[in-house]
Amino acid sequence: MQHLEITTDHFVNPGVFIDIDGVVLQGGKPFPWSKEAIHALWNNDIPFVFVTNGTYCSAVLVENLTKILELPFTSDHVVVAPSPCTALTDFHDKHVLVCCQEDSHGLVPELGFSNYLTVEELVEIFPDLDYVDHNRRKYLLSTPLSDEQKKAQEEFRPIEAILLLGEPIHWECSLQILIDILMTSGDPRAKFKFVPSPHLPIIAANKDLTFKGAAALPRFGHGAFLECLESLYKKITKNELEYEELMGKPYLVTYEYAAEQIQRLSKNGAKINKFFMIGDNPEVDVKGASIFKEHLHSLEAKSSRRSSRHASCATSRRHSLVVPDFSEFEFRQTKHVESILVCTGVYNPSNDLMVHLRSLFDSKICLDSNNNQADGEHLNESNYFNVPIIKTDSSNQFDFDTNELRNALSRKNSFISYFDDHQNMPDLTVDNLKDAVEHIIKVSRV
Ligand SMILES: [Mg+2]
Repeated sequence: MQHLEITTDHFVNPGVFIDIDGVVLQGGKPFPWSKEAIHALWNNDIPFVFVTNGTYCSAVLVENLTKILELPFTSDHVVVAPSPCTALTDFHDKHVLVCCQEDSHGLVPELGFSNYLTVEELVEIFPDLDYVDHNRRKYLLSTPLSDEQKKAQEEFRPIEAILLLGEPIHWECSLQILIDILMTSGDPRAKFKFVPSPHLPIIAANKDLTFKGAAALPRFGHGAFLECLESLYKKITKNELEYEELMGKPYLVTYEYAAEQIQRLSKNGAKINKFFMIGDNPEVDVKGASIFKEHLHSLEAKSSRRSSRHASCATSRRHSLVVPDFSEFEFRQTKHVESILVCTGVYNPSNDLMVHLRSLFDSKICLDSNNNQADGEHLNESNYFNVPIIKTDSSNQFDFDTNELRNALSRKNSFISYFDDHQNMPDLTVDNLKDAVEHIIKVSRV
């Protein structure tokens, strides 16, 4: 077996980041292979953490995964997008405006925030802010403020920070209120004078533009909501919206935070020396793994320079807040992080131009071979479409695919591009979670 041939010098003690949606679950239900794959990691003592950009309460997520996968998970097995907020103690006592859906409200105190109100609660105090719904407008015009509302307005403590946890239900209302709060430095009673600079600190979790649910096409995610907010703020103020902290994948802080948890789960505290990331979204999971990989390389370089000079290196505020000293990890591998992309979620090979070209290229080779027409002819992607279509019965499907692809290529932007950024390129692409786990077990000596 291959793993028995690995020498002591190449001993791999792996830790695994596992995305949930599109990898383990689809539309909240497990894939047929999910339970077996996760059990294989568990039974091989390979520590893993589910890293999701969702904004669930950790306790609820642990309970759900325990029930679905039938393993005794703890809170150490999950990292949700805003989990690193627990380290942002400077903000925990500030008056924070929270934007998310109701099922995330329980997460806010779990993250350490003690003084907060939701967009809906703010609208309760200042009903005039939400003026979108025509019927509501009529109601507001005919209904005076209650004594409680007047008192709440008088005693209102201005907002000091904004926490964006997930896309709300009523986007238009939340977009309006967030812009109001940014333009008035947190006090909706204030008359607008000029655009505050800097604006209130914004902490946002999960910038996924889309996520994979049960529907055929991915759904709008929190990233889509943030795009709207950024765009409106720019349009209205001519200034860029800036984030105090962005967390969730692909941001480094989330991988650091999850790595710390994986290390805690390692059997007998053995040092993790290689991280695998299994995900379905190149722009989120793979990109994050690439950023983490580059970070570990730079830490290793700093560590070796430091040990040679006996001098200390400065660390970023974020790094000192959240993560352990990664220079302590035993990195004897040339690649500390390996990203594995599965094809059961956001990434869909049928939208991938290169997969189409490769498939047609292979079909052409096969067809030529069958017709004895290969004769030393070497095709490549640039000259391929100049090759005349061979009109035989066996080439019907080939003709159809080629013509469909040719038509798509003749239109601009027909394909969704997953790999514009080199950081989105995975180290390995496999069909599903089971294949990914088999690969990890095969290359690891456990
Ligand atoms: Mg996913």
